[in-house]
Amino acid sequence: MVTLNETHDPKLQSWVTSANDDTTGFPIQNLPFAVFRRAGSNEAFRPGVAIGDQVLDLPALADAKVFNGQAAEALEACRDTALNGLMALGQTHWSALRLALSRALSTGAAAQTRIAPLLVPQAEVEYNTPARIGDYTDFYISLHHATAIGKQFRPDNPLLPNYKWVPIGYHGRASSLGVNQSFPRPMGQMKPATEGGTPDFGPCKRLDYELELGIYVGTGNAQGTRIGIDDAESHVFGLGILNDWSARDLQAWEYQPLGPFLAKNFASTLSPWIVTLEALAPFRTAFDRGADEPQPMPYLNSTNNVKEGALDVALEVLITTTQSRKTDAAPASLSKSNFRHAYWNVAQLITHHTVNGCNLQPGDLLGTGTLSGPEASQAGSILELTKGGKTPIDLPWGEKRVFLEDGDQIILRAECRKAGYPRIGFGQSAGTVLAARE
Ligand code: CA
Repeated sequence: MVTLNETHDPKLQSWVTSANDDTTGFPIQNLPFAVFRRAGSNEAFRPGVAIGDQVLDLPALADAKVFNGQAAEALEACRDTALNGLMALGQTHWSALRLALSRALSTGAAAQTRIAPLLVPQAEVEYNTPARIGDYTDFYISLHHATAIGKQFRPDNPLLPNYKWVPIGYHGRASSLGVNQSFPRPMGQMKPATEGGTPDFGPCKRLDYELELGIYVGTGNAQGTRIGIDDAESHVFGLGILNDWSARDLQAWEYQPLGPFLAKNFASTLSPWIVTLEALAPFRTAFDRGADEPQPMPYLNSTNNVKEGALDVALEVLITTTQSRKTDAAPASLSKSNFRHAYWNVAQLITHHTVNGCNLQPGDLLGTGTLSGPEASQAGSILELTKGGKTPIDLPWGEKRVFLEDGDQIILRAECRKAGYPRIGFGQSAGTVLAARE
């Protein structure tokens, strides 16, 4: 587990002056990674680090030969179209690169004149998926979400007995993960109107979003080996935002007995930026299972994990619609939640995923599952907010929503805040629903 060090000093300021106020969420204490190129260009996508409103071009920084040792080795691994090479190097290289970047971007750094030409304004770039994601697993770690959704699908039996013992998950599909997605409303089968009848077929009528975080695996494990709970976080490169779009009517018909399939794999929208676990160290918090709940089994439990295994990450869902964008109305907030409310934490998911000897690989993505909070207003899906489509949501510009309509854009945001420390932003995941291709 990474502890606080000089890169977390709240007094650090950067010679990139836009990093020194809370506007961007990318102060020198953050230094998140993405894959970018100049918008509309034919340049290769390449790794970059955010500092204020700029992106630092990492292959160009490798060419400039400003860094030495493990930091220089880490930069060499960034000569790629994705972050997998850097992810595979491991925690000591990630920390060495973070320390070198922090020193080189700090006010008064001797390297300023060599690094300043390697900055590209974020306003002039476009992003790609930050890693080549070989495997994507989606968990289900909010008890509040699992209970609320369970009530919709199984009113008599909302929470199955395994939930409080096993971090429930399923293997998802990596090919349809992306950043800034626009995708057609999915087509599919829906439950027959009458018991035993022929299923309906057509465009999904109950399209939803899911507010999640994505956990990017850094170093993996050999098949047949397990990652222990206190070693688990050293295998995690960082966290991004994930919208697991969900077709609820397709889901209701197909999900038994083997779980989600076509209701979930038509699109899943990531944020371009990955915030490293090291950047999140100041926002660790106790993992509080609650005295009335079953305590995690020994392989999912440790003194360190209880003490600071959870993360305080504030989350928000916003919407714009075709109508709201015509009048330039501000995005409307649908709900706010926090990662700290989850029933399981990052280390537990890594450890559980490998307990049977399953091998994780650099760039694998673990979704947390919808991060609904304890209050009804903190729900991370529209199915919960509208109580199964029964209670429409009023939008400030006069429209109502039960499920998502064509043209709707969902924006997910995440950030860490605490008194006396700069705001650590994750940027956003933004995706738009297009008309079905019937
Ligand atoms: Ca999900």
